[in-house]
Amino acid sequence: MSDRYLNFANTPAGRRLVGALGLPSPLPLERWVAGRNRPLEGALLIGGDGDLGASVAAFANRLTDEYFAARDDQYGLPRWTAEHGPKLKGLVFDASGLSRFEELDALRQFFQPALKNLGRCPHVVVLGRAPQTLDDPQASSVQRALEGFTRSLGKEIRRGGTVQLVYVDPGAEPQLEGALRFLLSPKSAYVSGQVLRLQPCAQQVSDWTRPLAGKTALVTGASRGIGAAIAETLARDGADVVLLDVPQAKDALDALASRLGGRSLALDICAEEAPGKLVEALAEGVDIVVHNAGITRDKTLAKMSEGLWESVIDVNLRAPQQLTAALLQAGALRDNGRVVLIASLSGIAGNVGQTNYATSKAGLIGLAQSWAPTLAERGISINAVAPGFIETGMTAAIPFTIREAGRRMNAMNQGGLPQDVAEAVAWFAQPGSGAVSGQVLRVCGQSLLGA
Ligand code: NAD
Repeated sequence: MSDRYLNFANTPAGRRLVGALGLPSPLPLERWVAGRNRPLEGALLIGGDGDLGASVAAFANRLTDEYFAARDDQYGLPRWTAEHGPKLKGLVFDASGLSRFEELDALRQFFQPALKNLGRCPHVVVLGRAPQTLDDPQASSVQRALEGFTRSLGKEIRRGGTVQLVYVDPGAEPQLEGALRFLLSPKSAYVSGQVLRLQPCAQQVSDWTRPLAGKTALVTGASRGIGAAIAETLARDGADVVLLDVPQAKDALDALASRLGGRSLALDICAEEAPGKLVEALAEGVDIVVHNAGITRDKTLAKMSEGLWESVIDVNLRAPQQLTAALLQAGALRDNGRVVLIASLSGIAGNVGQTNYATSKAGLIGLAQSWAPTLAERGISINAVAPGFIETGMTAAIPFTIREAGRRMNAMNQGGLPQDVAEAVAWFAQPGSGAVSGQVLRVCGQSLLGA
């Protein structure tokens, strides 16, 4: 669905009017396009004082053609200055060495000149150490403080920019490249203000042009909307895809499956025979399972019937749990598998008329958190992706004024696209992304709602 306000606000007359009235001024976001091979097209500046900056500098040439350090003699890279350096497209600041309150000013010193010299749609990543892993209270507090910094910078950066905080555990440095290939590229166009933790993971991507080659991926609810985009993106990245949707959606499902060279499976995930049929269809094994199928049946709780309540819990929560359990029990989900649950911002912030939906989506986040430690024994990761307002048939059905409010209430003043959710899922699906488990990644343009 097209965002007519965004299109208008980016015409010369629209820009004048929007500026004069002080209205939101969304910028068209830069997204990944087929054929591109560099994560970052433009200059990358690396700075900070910890050990992680050097790890990033070591693979900077695989991220972009132009990379600089903030100081002379740092990482053996050329120095960037505000006076002579190019406009910046990516910033990585290693804050892992900060442990005293007075050292936090290093953030201001690094970012001030850089922020005045940003290109369009820049991507910023701050690196740190997980506060809970540090014994010294002040050091732990300083690392926790980075959250407030990055979330605020995300709201200030404008120009279609994104800002994230990545805590890197000792031993997880090899997984930084995969994370930065996502977080510094247009693949994370609509992801901002997020905090992630990387832990050591034995798996690695061997071919960055097809990171999912040799993997089989199941996507539920794949005939349209976000599910279709996920199937397309996983196939683009080299996975053999199995597309599942209700029998009523069989024609669209078959058409997409044949275009992607995948298989289709017409099945209602709530049907009694669903676990058995799924195990049978995936008897040869599956590496990536994306629980995307979902429904809304909105009513305020006072008017909510048992049927509306149960149907949403069944599709959105019970079925993903039962199907995952069945795949695990049958041994169909392979070692080092990747499970991704599509939750929702409603499951984090709550929403009027969505007690059933928000309950189911918060429950999915709980599933990711509770299952992660057990699945880790087999190298399997499980994470939730929580979309905010995404332009699909589901959001097109929302009444105009509520839809318009939902769309603008984020740092980017616009809705995301199915592709934005799909790119996050594709990153979680990679072998090296076993470094992230039991976590939630919001794809919400840094919504003003929720944490
Ligand atoms: P959509 O309605 O366009 O697609 C959902 C798909 O799930 C449909 O193809 C549908 O047939 C399928 N499905 C529903 N019940 C099923 C069942 N019992 N068995 C098998 N398939 C079933 O929705 P969408 O906007 O693409 O949303 C996809 C996911 O993203 C959902 O889980 C939704 O809750 C979540 N989400 C969407 C948004 C948004 O803004 N669109 C925001 C947050 C979360």
